[in-house]
Amino acid sequence: MSLNQSKQIPDSLEAMRKFAEVYAQRTGTYFCIDSSVTAVVIEGLAKHKDQYGSPLCPCRHYENKMLEVQSAYWNCPCVPMRERKECHCMLFLKPDNEFAGLTNNISNSEIFEHIL
Ligand code: SF4
Repeated sequence: MSLNQSKQIPDSLEAMRKFAEVYAQRTGTYFCIDSSVTAVVIEGLAKHKDQYGSPLCPCRHYENKMLEVQSAYWNCPCVPMRERKECHCMLFLKPDNEFAGLTNNISNSEIFEHIL
């Protein structure tokens, strides 16, 4: 086991990892064939949850993150995802997307492998 794999996953990261798995399963969507994409987006969501109290989408630029959190439009799952299954971060991909993998599971060690 590598040093990274033996590390404890932070609570917020674990919460977002589980959220992503459950939400993908519930919506019939899949993670990206490149698991580094999934890992980095989950990490970004966890950081925003820690810093702003909500998992603001990490793939956008905001002038004021606190205002964006309050408007809730880009809190994950964002409105485009909830209404049309559109995730521009490529966290949740419809099965017919060319970048969709075969799974909606990701392990802690896979996440650590890509973000540390
Ligand atoms: Fe979440 Fe929407 Fe960002 Fe996808 S695009 S990670 S569903 S907030």
